[in-house]
Amino acid sequence: MQAPLQQLQHPLLQKHHIELWVKREDLLHPHISGNKWRKLKYNLQEAKAQGKQTIVTFGGAYSNHIAATAAAGAEFGFKTIGMIRGEEHLPLNPTLAFATEQGMELHYIAREAYRLKNEPKFLAELSANYSQPYIVPEGGTNQLAVKGCTEIIDDITIDFDVICCASGTGGTIAGIIAGLKGQRQVLGFPALKGGDFLRDEIEQLVYNYSGQHYGNWQLITDYHFGGYAKVKPELLQFIREFQEQHHIPLEPVYTGKLFYGLFYLISKGYFPEGTRIVAVHTGGLQGNAGFRERLGIAI
Ligand SMILES: *Cc1c(COP(=O)(O)O)cnc(C)c1O
Repeated sequence: MQAPLQQLQHPLLQKHHIELWVKREDLLHPHISGNKWRKLKYNLQEAKAQGKQTIVTFGGAYSNHIAATAAAGAEFGFKTIGMIRGEEHLPLNPTLAFATEQGMELHYIAREAYRLKNEPKFLAELSANYSQPYIVPEGGTNQLAVKGCTEIIDDITIDFDVICCASGTGGTIAGIIAGLKGQRQVLGFPALKGGDFLRDEIEQLVYNYSGQHYGNWQLITDYHFGGYAKVKPELLQFIREFQEQHHIPLEPVYTGKLFYGLFYLISKGYFPEGTRIVAVHTGGLQGNAGFRERLGIAI
């Protein structure tokens, strides 16, 4: 499986003498998208090694991680159970319909109970109820996920100064930071409002994996567009233009915000002339079907 590097051409890049390359992780697999494949890879190996037949995981109703885990279960021979935040809505939205087609069994958890999903008591009950499944946390982020995401770095065949990615739980950027071992600069663009809370989590994930603290990374917290999965017209407009100019599809939850923010920083002269940037396209395009359906918009 290949995630090629694609160089972008744009007047803004020319003007500021910036080279921008996109690491097309979205092309890694048709259904186990981008960073979700990286995060699942060693978890699936571990589940196999432990002789587990069932994987249980958690997510929202439009979760890329739920879709990816369902597809991975079908491909690698695990039964999958998705614990979905909130109530059931029928007919199923495109994400959950896809997950079901891949054989995932869905259970719905009320929002209050969902908050307890990482508590030992909750996890013990889950293990008992589903005959000791392999449990993957929400968003797929754990130490093995961080390990998988270090391989994004191994796969980059050019030299560069800065690498950027969108952040949700911070697992992906933690892997990128760990993979770089203190070299170059890493910028994370949180998809959630108040992305500052992520700093500690990322620090912890990097430390747990590598036993190191690194100072060569930063979060750019200004481009969340009002919060997770909020869509603003200017973001949708940007995504459409990006697709027209570069023939690269984006989605509004993560990658749209990343590239919007990145172009904004470039336009403000944030990066010195001659900077070579790699932006990681983490995939997640399955989510666009849900936006089309909910908002009736072309995306
Ligand atoms: C899940 C996801 C992210 C966030 O990854 P984290 O490891 O949770 O920070 C970023 N981009 C896309 C497209 C995703 O699906």
